[in-house]
Amino acid sequence: MDLFEYQGKQYFARYGIAVSPGDVADTVEEAVAVAERVGYPVVVKAQVKVGGRGKAGGVKLAANVEEAREHATSILGLDIKGHVVKRVWIEHASDIAKEYYASFTLDRPNKTHLGMLSAQGGVEIEVVAEENPDAISFLSIDPVRGLDLETARRWVAEAELDEAAREQAAELLVKLYTCYTEGDCDLAEINPLVLTPTGTVHALDAKVTLDENASFRHPEWEAYREGEFEDPREKMAKEKGLNYIGLEGTVGIIANGAGLAMSTLDVVNQVGGTAANFLDIGGGANADVMAAALEVINADPMVKSIFVNIFGGITRVDEVANGVLEALKRVNIAAPIVLRLDGTNAVEGRAILAPHLNDHLITEPTMLDAARRAVALAN
Ligand code: GDP
Ligand code: MN
Repeated sequence: MDLFEYQGKQYFARYGIAVSPGDVADTVEEAVAVAERVGYPVVVKAQVKVGGRGKAGGVKLAANVEEAREHATSILGLDIKGHVVKRVWIEHASDIAKEYYASFTLDRPNKTHLGMLSAQGGVEIEVVAEENPDAISFLSIDPVRGLDLETARRWVAEAELDEAAREQAAELLVKLYTCYTEGDCDLAEINPLVLTPTGTVHALDAKVTLDENASFRHPEWEAYREGEFEDPREKMAKEKGLNYIGLEGTVGIIANGAGLAMSTLDVVNQVGGTAANFLDIGGGANADVMAAALEVINADPMVKSIFVNIFGGITRVDEVANGVLEALKRVNIAAPIVLRLDGTNAVEGRAILAPHLNDHLITEPTMLDAARRAVALAN
């Protein structure tokens, strides 16, 4: 999950990383009230999950209430690379002597964490990497040993941060590393990290990506989901405890096992169709799960046919067949359902369905046949 800048700054603050005081606003009036509260000059900043807001007119300095009103008016509703600004963050503006770049991310091939630090911040790091790669100092961090202050001190010197910034920057980097690891981030980036003319170092921007696999140990992350765009189908599926991902096509997919579900998408594509979703019902293909799965797919107006692809292993196909019939009693499904049932007790399963087959409930002998049939019905 990507965080908005203001959420990233809230997250940084939990780990003692210095950020400017500020608040969010959804309307011009709220924005003006926040500006009055934090004190001029202020920066009015578009809250969208995309970089380069500055260049796009989404970050503006205001010296007084008139300017705060003017900038909030122009930024709220602004379209930045397809993201419409619904909320602004207003903070007390900082004087800037120097802009640096700092980040931590995962270096998968090396099985380490990767720190990146540059004395040339404020511009996109990709541009620095291209035009002046030597200006970025990389630090490979053993996840078991972590990052200590001594190492951080050597790092800020190597990156040639200004003398006045080094000690504070080193301490901040250790905190950022703690935020990144204990806070279960995939990415924690500050660009720019600034040195002010009076000699303090703090974060002017925050880009944080949280590792969703760790959400079980972070109940506090739920607050960050508020305002997050969510596919209504995915929301419904989540409420029903289903493993569902919404796609753009017309063939609804239900399969048991993530691997089979992915193969099902491929086969539907191969025969000229498009999948409306990924849905793995796992081993528990009972009536409750099947009914929930059919309900979610049925709620998608794009779906023109439903392909139920079950390979019974531990899951028994006769139970799946009973589950489908039971589910159909509970849910009124608009689109025709094509079933491919194979594996454990497939013969029994097909026999259970046989008396109920019609042009809305169809079985096919193989996965490929079933895909072709479902696609033909959808197109
Ligand atoms: P981004 O363009 O989306 O990365 O947004 P940033 O938050 O990084 O802001 C873009 C630029 O605006 C920064 O690189 C700064 O140069 C400038 N900026 C942001 N906050 C302040 C501030 O408090 N004071 C001043 N003087 N400039 C700021
Ligand atoms: Mn930035």
